[in-house]
Amino acid sequence: MTSKKKSVGVVPLGDVPEITLQVIADHITGCFKLTTQILPPFEPPDDALDERQLQYNAGIIIEAMEAMHFANHDKVIGVLNKDLFIPIFTHVFGEARQGGQCGLVSLFRLEKNPDGSTPPKSIIHERAAKVALHELGHLLDLLHCEHRKCLMHFSGGIDEVDEISLDLCEYCSIYLQDKLR
Ligand SMILES: [Zn+2]
Ligand SMILES: [Zn+2]
Repeated sequence: MTSKKKSVGVVPLGDVPEITLQVIADHITGCFKLTTQILPPFEPPDDALDERQLQYNAGIIIEAMEAMHFANHDKVIGVLNKDLFIPIFTHVFGEARQGGQCGLVSLFRLEKNPDGSTPPKSIIHERAAKVALHELGHLLDLLHCEHRKCLMHFSGGIDEVDEISLDLCEYCSIYLQDKLR
């Protein structure tokens, strides 16, 4: 049996800068050695918007994406500019179900530093790439990791996103190679 290389779709949900999508796709190719394709945009479903919180429910968007059956892509990362939440957290930078097909990255909170200042575009792009790779890691069945610098370390705040690296630790790397085999 020949193993087919996994392919990842990157899909904008609403208005997302082309350059950000390209940065995410390039990092997926560079770091995880997977083929990527940027897909046509679609609007997040209306029922994902929580009117009270003015945030989008990540789980509802992921369900809508999974219902689209992206036949040509093993994994799909949705990228949006809206603030995301899941019921147990007030906000999340991204979300993915363990081993699922579709994950999400929100750029909304990546564009400000903890002190309220605006970072250079290069930092915003690096953060978006980290969150995208982290969520893709979950889709590929990687779990959270204790290593503070590992890409799979959990980030609750933007300072933690800045602290993790774009790389997996040795342990997570071996696990990923095994998953991709
Ligand atoms: Zn995670
Ligand atoms: Zn690790």
